[in-house]
Amino acid sequence: MFDIRIQRTTQPKVKPTDDSKLGFGKIFSDHMLLIDYQEGKGWYDPRVIPHGPLSLDPASSVLHYGQEIFEGAKLYRTKDGYNLFRIRDNFERMNQSAARMGMATMPIELYMESLLALLALDKDWTPHKEGTSLYIRPTMIATDSCLGVSAANNYLYYVILSPSGAYYASGLAPVAIYVEDQLVRAVRGGVGFAKTGGNYAASILAGIKAKHEGYAQVMWLDGVEQRYIEEVGAMNMMFVYENRKVVTPALNGSILAGITRDSAMKLARHMGLEVEERQMDIHELIADAKQGKVTEAFGTGTAAVVSPVNLIGYQGERVPIGDGNIGTVTQKLYDTLTGIQTGKVEDTFGWITRI
Ligand SMILES: *Cc1c(COP(=O)(O)O)cnc(C)c1O
Repeated sequence: MFDIRIQRTTQPKVKPTDDSKLGFGKIFSDHMLLIDYQEGKGWYDPRVIPHGPLSLDPASSVLHYGQEIFEGAKLYRTKDGYNLFRIRDNFERMNQSAARMGMATMPIELYMESLLALLALDKDWTPHKEGTSLYIRPTMIATDSCLGVSAANNYLYYVILSPSGAYYASGLAPVAIYVEDQLVRAVRGGVGFAKTGGNYAASILAGIKAKHEGYAQVMWLDGVEQRYIEEVGAMNMMFVYENRKVVTPALNGSILAGITRDSAMKLARHMGLEVEERQMDIHELIADAKQGKVTEAFGTGTAAVVSPVNLIGYQGERVPIGDGNIGTVTQKLYDTLTGIQTGKVEDTFGWITRI
């Protein structure tokens, strides 16, 4: 048990009334959670206070050298309460990101208890419409006021909550993705497996290129040979071969180990499909797709859960995947995962925390 200070807002905001106009990450709930860290003292003063601006010295190390990590999770409304999905895994991963970035780790129980304290106040900010959720953004930043490049002695952990709309406003829909063969996102030995801000800063230019060419997302290749498939923006990639085998790039240190990725693999195996994690050569994939062997492709991530892909653009060629529609494996994984998250499908895996 941790002593979490609660300061309720005296000016509760008006909650959005139209769940179809929420968008993503633009509206925030009434409160936020903050916990400070100081080297030698550890984590101290966990508190839930009104959501509002942080006060930071302009010399704060996060603003200069990017010592920052984050997580992304969702609170789902069920018929009689709320569900969190594999939330402990998010916090385990946050500690792995922290370790890689030379930042302070935090006991999982403190992550859990403090989040529950925040949700106790703001869970009713969760929208109602199907496909919507309360997005949870745990973040950790280095707060030393010092321009020297070294691990900070002070960190701030905070969590903000954002009621978010359905990822697919008009139902699950396939997207086209652009394979980036010039710019790279991460290299082995770097920070690709950590959820740290710099990885996303490095990805933005390619995103602009992809949008310009009419693609929804960027698919990254490995940073050394630019030949092996890594992942997409904030999603891991899966390819269905001949309707029965799911193939996904193996975790190699530069790919983020998605919780949705792991869940989709477990579910696929449970559904009797073969699942293979291996190095995937983009040339092989393109050749296999042209021969009709790749029957489906989809991305996995907390935001979209499962995102069907029906076209891959590589070196000026536009290669269709499957028949252009949402594949049966993709649809079934989407339905089952979202069903478990919202309490409509029984959770036989122990993934749900009910609150
Ligand atoms: C968050 C993220 C994912 C997906 O992870 P989930 O745990 O499934 O949400 C995949 N790739 C990157 C780069 C990410 O940041």
